[in-house]
Amino acid sequence: MFHAETKDQVLERLLREDKPKCPYCETEMNLWEVPQLTACDGLGWGTPYLWICFNDECTLYANGWENMRENYGRNSSYRCMCYPGTHKPECIPVFSPEGAKGQIIDAQVAKQEQVLVQKTKKGLAVLDTCKVEKNYTTTIKMLTSAEQPQRVRLKSAEIIGEIGTIECIEPIRNAKFGNDLIQKAADDSIKKIHERFFTRECPHCAEIIKKRAKICKHCNQDMAGK
Ligand SMILES: [Zn+2]
Ligand SMILES: [Zn+2]
Repeated sequence: MFHAETKDQVLERLLREDKPKCPYCETEMNLWEVPQLTACDGLGWGTPYLWICFNDECTLYANGWENMRENYGRNSSYRCMCYPGTHKPECIPVFSPEGAKGQIIDAQVAKQEQVLVQKTKKGLAVLDTCKVEKNYTTTIKMLTSAEQPQRVRLKSAEIIGEIGTIECIEPIRNAKFGNDLIQKAADDSIKKIHERFFTRECPHCAEIIKKRAKICKHCNQDMAGK
């Protein structure tokens, strides 16, 4: 196959390259994500990203409106476009000044997203090992760390129920997740830990007691029927 790179890898590579300059206006071109629809309808560009000049003062674009109206009776223009890896300028049709601007890749945002993707990958790999080694200490650390990506925290919340011990319950209870999905996974995991260790929390003092205890050993309350 010619396309040996994933879309992510293509983007990563293009972000490292120097932005080409539009030959009509000398403005740096923007990386533009080809919409999925276009790629499937037979008009595909054969690449997930293109360089496009989005300068509204660009002579090619500015004169394009009149040219299209006079010659083709169409209310549209075109912007200068360049295939990645080539410096051969081509035209891409646009139908409004805002047309296609939604797909401009902001290099800074894209880089932040990539950092997040890397962090998530790394975190999930660490958790795979934690699960095999029943390393609940590290799992709890990742679950309660605001530094970890949400997906990593969610995964930690899920596996702690399988590998966690009773000591894990308090740190989970004390943690603030700010995310309903993670909170629910953490609550479910606490239930799982209790099931595995035949324990529960005393409804009076919240201390952990044996599931079948008739009297709480911490607060001496009667547990009958509770
Ligand atoms: Zn231009
Ligand atoms: Zn109690």
